[in-house]
Amino acid sequence: MHVLLLSTYDLGHQPFSLASPAAKLRSAGAGVTCNDLAIDALDEEAVKKAGLIGLYLPMHTATRLSVALLPRLKNLNSKAHIVFYGLYAPLNADYLKSIGGDSFIGGEFEDGLIDIYHKLVTGEKPSAIPLISTAKQEFIRPWREDLPSLDRYAHLYVGDGSTKIVGYTEASRGCKHTCCHCPIVPVYQGRFRILPVDIVLADIRQQIANGAEHISFGDPDFFNGPRHAISVVENLHEEFPDITYDVTIKIEHLLKHQELLPKLKASGCLFITTAVESTEEEILRLLDKGHSQADFKRATEITRAAGLTLAPTFVPFTPWTTKEGFLQLLETIAGLDLIENVAPIQLAIRLLIPNQSALLDLTEIQPHLDGYDEEALSYRWRNSDETVEELCAGVQEIVEASAENNHSRRETFAAIYAAALTACDRPSNDLPSLKSAPGVAIPSMSEPWFCCAEPTAEQLARL
Ligand code: SF4
Repeated sequence: MHVLLLSTYDLGHQPFSLASPAAKLRSAGAGVTCNDLAIDALDEEAVKKAGLIGLYLPMHTATRLSVALLPRLKNLNSKAHIVFYGLYAPLNADYLKSIGGDSFIGGEFEDGLIDIYHKLVTGEKPSAIPLISTAKQEFIRPWREDLPSLDRYAHLYVGDGSTKIVGYTEASRGCKHTCCHCPIVPVYQGRFRILPVDIVLADIRQQIANGAEHISFGDPDFFNGPRHAISVVENLHEEFPDITYDVTIKIEHLLKHQELLPKLKASGCLFITTAVESTEEEILRLLDKGHSQADFKRATEITRAAGLTLAPTFVPFTPWTTKEGFLQLLETIAGLDLIENVAPIQLAIRLLIPNQSALLDLTEIQPHLDGYDEEALSYRWRNSDETVEELCAGVQEIVEASAENNHSRRETFAAIYAAALTACDRPSNDLPSLKSAPGVAIPSMSEPWFCCAEPTAEQLARL
């Protein structure tokens, strides 16, 4: 039986989560095609001959795109068994079933896909009950031969004018924390699973052989298992001393394991993405982030002292955001000299509340909810201060226009800051850091990291 694995969008990376199950399905005897629609057109022949089609749903945007793609798949092949897999599959299983999905797997999905494949081969009907598995699995080296070459994906701007080809892998999945806005939480419930060091290195090795000069680790938090993480990067550095990498680490872990930061620097780490979300203490408490504004400042200092670049991400617009709070966020970023470190889109993000989000358990969210929007696959909410909603819309317009006009991060930040001052009835104020040129070169990806966007017309047209 032929299996087609489809990814619609994976944040500019070559999708590990097609390559990993593809390897296991092939070793179980399946013929497999991997088709990344973020880069290539739909392989209609592969759709027509598939007995099993897997759609990978790692996040909101990919889910929306996969939903839009489904009718075309059904037209081409109405008999194939459709399995949605990835974090968003079990969370949206009822809706995905109503539009024609057959099976739904979240968490550790490779073995679940193999099980469905075996059932179909032997004429058994796979279960339609959503499966969430955090069971330990055996991994084998991902099979990447069928995916577009790495130079067709997002690349790294090193910061000195040069670029690097980026490979992507995962040394762990899930997370031992339970921040209530995070889509990992309803699936992994505070658990994480590591991939063996030799498999991670074998995957990196094959990507370096295919041109990767920098590796992006997609672990939700690289320091969930700090000893494992350090073992991976020290082995990587020993074998490939010129390869650089980036990781994601939460503020709490940066502080708790700060003695490991020099080891990251020494082994080629270029930058660390960290989810700050807010500088309003009450919002950080509601999201259960495990850090304070002071912790953010301290984490900035210690990563800088270790010679590492911090790339903070935010969810600035929530039901509880205040105009003064947003202004304080901007002034904190400027005060910490982080303007160049923040992708402008991070200043425009609105909290996404997907189905089964732990946010729904908060009494504080109830007055803000306005029903579930099935098409948008998320709950509608409003801030009770309409002027915050207006500020959010204004910031989103600034970020969009800046992207169209190729404005710098500093120019975009200045425009957002001016809008926030106006919203707060404050006189214009030229922050000293708005004028100064960046002191150090900041590495960043050519595709900014965010996963809760509406699909773009360009993405939809590719389906
Ligand atoms: S630490 Fe990060 S990955 Fe873990 S639950 Fe919180 S937001 Fe999610």
